[in-house]
Amino acid sequence: MELKEMITKYKDYRDRMKAISYAEYMISWDAETEAPINSVEERSKQIGMLSQMSYEIERSEEYINIVKKLYQELDSLDDLLKIEIKKVHKELMQSLKIPMNELVEYSILLSKAHSTWKDAKLSSNYNIFKDTLKEIIDFNKKMVKYLETEELKGYNVLLDQYEEGMTKDKYDKFFNLLKEEIVPLVKQINSLPNQENKLSNRLFDINKQKVFADYLMKVMCFDKTRGLMKESEHPFTSGFGTSDVRVTNHYYEDLILSSIFSAIHELGHATYEQQCDSKLDETLLTGGTSMAMHESQSRFYENIVGRSYEFWKRHYPVLQNLFTEELKDVTLEDFYKCANYVECSLIRTEADELTYPLHIMVRYEIEKMIIEQDIDVNELPIIWNKLYKEYLGIDVPCDKLGILQDVHWAGGSFGYFPTYALGSAYGAQFLNSMKKDIDFNEALSNDNLQIINDWLKDKVHRFGQTKTPDEILNYATGESFDAKYFVEYLKTKFKNIYNL
Ligand code: ZN
Repeated sequence: MELKEMITKYKDYRDRMKAISYAEYMISWDAETEAPINSVEERSKQIGMLSQMSYEIERSEEYINIVKKLYQELDSLDDLLKIEIKKVHKELMQSLKIPMNELVEYSILLSKAHSTWKDAKLSSNYNIFKDTLKEIIDFNKKMVKYLETEELKGYNVLLDQYEEGMTKDKYDKFFNLLKEEIVPLVKQINSLPNQENKLSNRLFDINKQKVFADYLMKVMCFDKTRGLMKESEHPFTSGFGTSDVRVTNHYYEDLILSSIFSAIHELGHATYEQQCDSKLDETLLTGGTSMAMHESQSRFYENIVGRSYEFWKRHYPVLQNLFTEELKDVTLEDFYKCANYVECSLIRTEADELTYPLHIMVRYEIEKMIIEQDIDVNELPIIWNKLYKEYLGIDVPCDKLGILQDVHWAGGSFGYFPTYALGSAYGAQFLNSMKKDIDFNEALSNDNLQIINDWLKDKVHRFGQTKTPDEILNYATGESFDAKYFVEYLKTKFKNIYNL
């Protein structure tokens, strides 16, 4: 086959796979937002069919051969196709290393694991879940063996799957710095006399919360002609190229901050997706380059922008106007403090900006042991509780509020958690560089987020997946990842808030 013909054939395969994944995207969006309850069964059947179709393409001899041959001809391909083939080839070669029958077995295990985990969590009984967890762990260890290379061994194999280039050594350095600098700060804040949280025990009309979420879309310059916001149980963002980016939010009458910061967080993810270079839409390179890079954008907007004093100086009057009665005795300063209230709590997803990475550290330490040591699953809750005591100073009263709280391990995701903390840290590094180019605080207090969006578009978003996380960091900040910016940012912000 001529090179030209091969490229045409490859693109044809790719377009067919994209069409299938577009259908999957629409179906899962619908399932999470508006589909009627009784549509589950029919939907599962059709989703099964679609994934089989895409699997048949991906494992067809012709497709595999074309990818292999194009990989040998990399130098003759145009820049974009070169990057795409490198990525596709890497993923394909990895997936071919795992025997098919084991993958099928594993996906059956995972689909059952979800409901076992749910049952265990509901009854707060780890014993219900532990055998399933052991099976998932064993599979992951086996998978690590299949995927190991000269450079990547053990837990590093899994870490690299979620964040290319990140290793245990780099994460250890990062988390050790948090242990040295942030754990003592949290303990210090925790020893202060209890600060009043003025927003607790107040109710906020949900329709008005939605009006404010709509206002936030405008503030963040979200393009509604290429995206929308709906509701779901857990907020999330999903997108297909730059022209269709969707977010969800969730509203609780007694937790106004939850809907506000979820909206800003998801709109941060959405901004990344919408601001990719649209010429990547037809390739497999659109969207965020990695887990941590995506999370760096959502957390940048949620925490660095959204939980800043300057932001609320501008927007709090609007919120107060909506909730005149509810907020009449809450000043801007009160509100800012509530948005940054530090509390050593049990649940990761509800944690504040300062303690959040410590929740991740607990999971990271445990994952290291799980993958690299022969740890007895019976020991895991004990280790979990011990680490919560050590890093956050709190006792875990039951498994539901402890080791059973997250779905990740039930879904077989090991190596994913640390990217959440890493994302926050990337964000602080971007801030440091951004401040050299633009007046960040002025952009916030003048309601000019476009200037911040533009900086991130130029330095991060437009590249989609054409650059690795490390290449983006170097392009945007002139250096590789360095945790010092995050630690400095946290210390300055929270010492200021708590007058330390
Ligand atoms: Zn997120």
